[in-house]
Amino acid sequence: MIDPFGRRIGYLRVSVTDRCDFRCVYCMDETPSFLPKVEVLSLEELERLCRAFVRRGVRKVRITGGEPLVRRDVMHLFRGLGRLLQGEGLDELTLTTNASQLARHAVDLVACGVRRINVSVDTLDPARFRAITRHGRLDLVLAGLAAAKAAGLRIRINTVALRGVNEDEFDRLVAWCGAEDFDLCLIETMPLGDVDGDRTAHYLPLGTVRTRLERRWTLIPSAHATGGPARYVDVAETGRKIGFITPMTHNFCESCNRVRLTCTGMLYLCLGQEDCADLRTPLRASESDIPLLAAIDAAIARKPKGHDFVIDREHRRPALGRTMSRTGG
Ligand code: SAM
Ligand code: SF4
Repeated sequence: MIDPFGRRIGYLRVSVTDRCDFRCVYCMDETPSFLPKVEVLSLEELERLCRAFVRRGVRKVRITGGEPLVRRDVMHLFRGLGRLLQGEGLDELTLTTNASQLARHAVDLVACGVRRINVSVDTLDPARFRAITRHGRLDLVLAGLAAAKAAGLRIRINTVALRGVNEDEFDRLVAWCGAEDFDLCLIETMPLGDVDGDRTAHYLPLGTVRTRLERRWTLIPSAHATGGPARYVDVAETGRKIGFITPMTHNFCESCNRVRLTCTGMLYLCLGQEDCADLRTPLRASESDIPLLAAIDAAIARKPKGHDFVIDREHRRPALGRTMSRTGG
């Protein structure tokens, strides 16, 4: 699939649920309104959609959410998609998770063909962890990480940089990732969804973070590229990488290779734009995949060039009403 700007779309991110056992302050309200279950596609329907994308040339699928591992029987989906890794067109099946339930799924994930996962950890301080996630227990997350490591999964830690919240912890996170053999990816907070509180207060540009890290660590620009938005450096002292995802200060749209499917079958063509295509209707209209494939083609043909996020005191409203947990982060 090639979009109107010549970008090859080979990466599908699938939000399998908008529900979560955490309520991270930058992601959700304290009492979010979740989608009624009747609107959510079954796991069989999600698998059929993914298979259609793989037929159209998608090579990498990431399962995300909400928290994907809270969806009941989600391992059925992993097993089904894992079969596509055996010469049926898919090169990589992966997962983004908060790791609260990872300990009991890690071995099965490996059996399904998952090799690398992203785990979100914004702080290593248990009280701070509870404050950021409102519900989360750091000990469960660390147990999940240990199980994943023991099962042989490669792990990248995702950390949202939050001014006045975790900005004093980045050196500690770099050292911890070095010791645990994890990569680290720092992310600027994006104006997605109308969450409680003032987002501008916590926005921290990663240029500032990088300058501070350079006081303690030798950061060597890396040629490592995943086709994704992260720009990487190697940390000489630890031998691990740090990625910087800077949607606010540096737009990464020109190399965008991805689209995002929600658990209701809406296909978002850009994280930062409202336009989406309804794939649930063609999916349910026919047992044949022909209408569905036509809808996918039509959607890719209108993928927008990019987005521009702004967070400042004049733009107090979020850029978009929908949260990351709905679109699939
Ligand atoms: N629940 C899983 C997790 O937290 O890893 C997967 C879904 S979560 C929406 C995916 C990623 O999006 C997490 O790393 C989270 O920190 C990030 N995220 C959520 N809202 C964000 C925002 N407004 N700005 C930047 N990153 C955000
Ligand atoms: Fe849940 Fe992930 Fe959003 Fe946190 S960032 S509330 S773990 S979906």
